[in-house]
Amino acid sequence: MPKKEEKPPAEAKKEQKIETKPQAPPEEAPKEVPKPEKAKREKKKKIGKKIFKLYQLEPDKVVRLRPVCERCGPGYFMADHGNRYTCGHCGFTKYKPSEK
Ligand SMILES: [Zn+2]
Repeated sequence: MPKKEEKPPAEAKKEQKIETKPQAPPEEAPKEVPKPEKAKREKKKKIGKKIFKLYQLEPDKVVRLRPVCERCGPGYFMADHGNRYTCGHCGFTKYKPSEK
């Protein structure tokens, strides 16, 4: 029996024909990256309250309860440290007149 395993050349050529399609640009799918939900902590607004402590609102004017730094000029309030006032900007310290 003759072996007929060899394929005809025509058929082999057909298999080699591979259509080369021009690579289509990948569709730009909007990537929806799920943002990790950040647990937002409610910040306590302590600063705001502190600021209002420095002022006393009166009907026609604003009274500043803290002294102004002598070196830095108006706009720089001095911190109340009990027996003294200190400027946080330049470090100037002014002692309060003794209350005793
Ligand atoms: Zn100062």
